[in-house]
Amino acid sequence: MRYLIISDIHSNLEALEAVLTAAHAAGWERLLVLGDLVGYGADPNAVVDRVRDLAPTAVIRGNHDKAASGLDDAADFNPGARAAARWTFERLTPGNREYLRALAAGPMIVDEHIEICHGSPFDEDEYLFVGDDAAAGLEAARAALCFFGHTHIAVVFSAEPSGVAARVPDEDEWVAEVDDVRRLLVNPGSVGQPRDGDPRAAFAIYDAVRREIVLRRVPYPIERAQEKILAAGLPRALAARLAVGR
Ligand code: ZN
Repeated sequence: MRYLIISDIHSNLEALEAVLTAAHAAGWERLLVLGDLVGYGADPNAVVDRVRDLAPTAVIRGNHDKAASGLDDAADFNPGARAAARWTFERLTPGNREYLRALAAGPMIVDEHIEICHGSPFDEDEYLFVGDDAAAGLEAARAALCFFGHTHIAVVFSAEPSGVAARVPDEDEWVAEVDDVRRLLVNPGSVGQPRDGDPRAAFAIYDAVRREIVLRRVPYPIERAQEKILAAGLPRALAARLAVGR
């Protein structure tokens, strides 16, 4: 079984299409979506439609999905994110708004080996960065392999005898082995708004037979996504950051 894992698409249709093209070439059978389908970018409906068409095996909500569908008032968002949430709320079709409102909260058990969450296994809105948070996340995970998003930074945390190890992909196709010993917390990175300094779209494919996770980066037409953001009247900073991956 091969799983395609995507997170933090953020209404970036160009990035999503680039990921799906690359993932199609690689091959996958089950899709896991870790939340934040919308927010920031200019194509909320096209992205939600695309995800719905793919019929994910599992999909959970992110904090932006809650804000953009009216479940949350976005009071803790920064001004640019809040403006984008309001813009998205007004443009979502009733059907897509309802789809986002009805998304399950994470964490969610997918099968006997895999759990998914947006933020962390102990709180859907918590950010898992290196250190104590990662240790608490590994502690709270209910499956040996847990995929998470929210930080927009690709990383593999593992519970080692000496403590928590954090490994950061440093190649376009970077492989993490899965074994029966170490518990893993894996962030595939963000499809539509990477923040680790690499502006290319990020995703992961987990091959449950070969027992390896491949974390990948693919280029996409960033300028086109930026033009749409500017044409929509969304904050200019949301377009600018796409070029630098921050
Ligand atoms: Zn996000």
